Amino acid sequence: MQMLLNVNNIEVKYQNAILVLKGVSFSLTEGKIVTIIGANGAGKTTTLKAISGLLHTEDGEVTHGSIEFNGKKIDRMKPEEISQMGILQALEGRKVFEHLTVEENLRVVANRGTKRIGIKKNLDKIYNYFPRLKDVKNLESGYLSGGEMQMLVIGSCVMASPRILLLDEPSLGLSPILVKEIFAIVKKINQEEKATILLVEQNANAALSIAEYGFVMENGRIVLDGTMEKLKNNEDVKEFYLGLSRINERRSYREVKHYKRRKRWLG
Ligand code: ATP
Repeated sequence: MQMLLNVNNIEVKYQNAILVLKGVSFSLTEGKIVTIIGANGAGKTTTLKAISGLLHTEDGEVTHGSIEFNGKKIDRMKPEEISQMGILQALEGRKVFEHLTVEENLRVVANRGTKRIGIKKNLDKIYNYFPRLKDVKNLESGYLSGGEMQMLVIGSCVMASPRILLLDEPSLGLSPILVKEIFAIVKKINQEEKATILLVEQNANAALSIAEYGFVMENGRIVLDGTMEKLKNNEDVKEFYLGLSRINERRSYREVKHYKRRKRWLG
């Protein structure tokens, strides 16, 4: 099976001083949904920004290793060049043009896809995935609810016909019902658009409900990876990432491993 994206042992620093990613490697198989789960501050967003090139806008840099898309090195490329190649990042915190209507926002980002199928067809496609957006298409985006805003952010990326869609915590601040609805649409987009999806999430339950393969990230490193089945059945992942009721008191996967080893040694 062909690897669409290869992240090879990257190290990322901000301001040439703050080391955040400490040798991260993984690959994306074309057409699959892959997730990176991890707690706050693990380095998930930084990983996405390294791929999309947005790191450069924050004085961040890949200081070691490389990122290849379709065999081409992209870690030195500008964000606009990377998005032109079809790698689109839906930003955490839902950034849209608040004074533009929903439809104006969608029109603004239309580029690659629109050239191919025309703006009307492209808009219809987005409204088909997100019927709610059609209902509010003339509303100024600043007035949207959290869920509608998330739909607009994802819809805007789909408008540009992504080869790879990078999703940064789409579940953030949404009710469980909305999370379920939006994740089901993400799955549909993956299947119908043949878009490869890299989803980063703190909500491991939701992420593993649609991803086929996952990575667990802690403190700038990948500490575990496996198929959705393997991760869902892993005792430590169950305890520390899927035990949502204990989300605030969980320790790290590494600490647990260490703790378990010590327990074994102590009998
Ligand atoms: P969250 O879920 O909170 O977004 P995350 O796993 O996505 O967490 P990152 O946002 O990648 O984590 O942050 C990883 C580390 O990098 C954090 O310690 C953060 O403070 C630091 N960091 C992120 N952006 C910058 C920046 N622009 N300048 C300096 N440090 C940064």
